Amino acid sequence: MGTHGGAGSGRTRVGRYELGRTLGEGTFAKVKFARNVETGENVAIKILDKEKVLKHKMIAQIKREISTMKLIRHPNVIRMYEVMASKTKIYIVMELVTGGELFDKIASRGRLKEDDARKYFQQLINAVDYCHSRGVYHRDLKPENLLLDANGTLKVSDFGLSALSKQVREDGLLHTTCGTPNYVAPEVINNKGYDGAKADLWSCGVILFVLMAGYLPFEDSNLMSLYKKIYKADFTCPSWFSTSAKKLIKKILDPNPSTRITIAEVISNEWFKKGYQPPRFETADVNLDDVNSIFNETGDPAQLVVERREERPAVMNAFELISTSQGLNLGTLFEKQTDSVKRETRFASRLPAKEILSKIEAAAGPMGFNVQKRNYKLKLQGENPGRKGQLAIATEVFEVTPSLYMVEIRKSNGDTLEFHNFYHSISNGLKDVMWKPEGGIPEADEIRHRRSP
Ligand code: ADP
Ligand code: MG
Repeated sequence: MGTHGGAGSGRTRVGRYELGRTLGEGTFAKVKFARNVETGENVAIKILDKEKVLKHKMIAQIKREISTMKLIRHPNVIRMYEVMASKTKIYIVMELVTGGELFDKIASRGRLKEDDARKYFQQLINAVDYCHSRGVYHRDLKPENLLLDANGTLKVSDFGLSALSKQVREDGLLHTTCGTPNYVAPEVINNKGYDGAKADLWSCGVILFVLMAGYLPFEDSNLMSLYKKIYKADFTCPSWFSTSAKKLIKKILDPNPSTRITIAEVISNEWFKKGYQPPRFETADVNLDDVNSIFNETGDPAQLVVERREERPAVMNAFELISTSQGLNLGTLFEKQTDSVKRETRFASRLPAKEILSKIEAAAGPMGFNVQKRNYKLKLQGENPGRKGQLAIATEVFEVTPSLYMVEIRKSNGDTLEFHNFYHSISNGLKDVMWKPEGGIPEADEIRHRRSP
């Protein structure tokens, strides 16, 4: 595609991977699309700050969990292929999944039928139960970590990585300090030590409720009131839940971890068992040298990779364009403005890249945003404290062809609804920047027709 479209140009390389667009951003990490230049395989790479990871006292646990994750090949757990480190960063190379987040489905289509919800819940329990049996707990089960592959199979991400993003106290127990508490078990919020298996199951219960209800069991705009509701498991199942589903959810969302149902009991529950297919999977011989070299004090500096950058907008190839549009549906390539609340949106533009960036900068300033510019990226930092912290937005310009750019606008911190409002306001100021093909994306024969009038 285009004159600069050749593989390897205008890209960042890490080891044998060519980095592409950012797929998502959390508080502690970024996840980027990447391509193995030796095999052509597409992967996702999670990039963490090395100093933050290595300075806290969990290295032994992190090393053990990452090693275990490398060994796990479960159909509902995102595969971890290898780990690399540069002087300042850690790169976790994972299986790329292209079906988007499970909860985007609910955001766009509403709650699921009970049978469909059960199917995802069974896959979730399979993943969680298997990792627990290997001594790995998730501790951060939430919608963002439930992804779908191209076949619609559920894949749980970030197993064994939660210790990387959690503050850890001297006693070695984990304590959440940030993130949405909506999915978190009461004993975890309580800041006492807890049993990872019981806490994970609670989160699975909240997820099941949301899948079937289309809304959260515990919600309150006031954080203290929310905590109180969670401590008391103060929730009501909607009338459309079947009696047996209600009973099971009640047993999972038991605020007392010692009387809470166990995963083994969930698996033998009648409601759960309907249409259940036990997972089929393999384990494999895996080399753990990469994990050992990163997490041992004596890490061999010769093993370090370097990031190479280029000073022009990244070229987006067809693979990536397709991977950005969920489930290979090219109609959503350049997202239409819909009412569904998402953390990310994009538009196309025919203006030169530099001009796009300065127009965004000019539009964001008066809206109360601090703008930081670097290469073909902008960081917008909200000046007002938002509902879930200051709104922060990352934008990047990608070259699709020499005369067509794709602009990505992604929330990196703050409340999704506030982000959505931001996007609505800024798109008014960017009307002359955005390009919309008349009548949407043209069909193949329309293009042919236009070329030969
Ligand atoms: P979070 O704390 O929200 O889970 P992450 O840094 O783990 O943050 O990931 C951010 C986002 O990147 C996820 O919500 C998901 O949309 C996307 N993502 C993560 N892993 C993958 C993957 N293996 N394949 C595709 N997308 C991914
Ligand atoms: Mg994640």
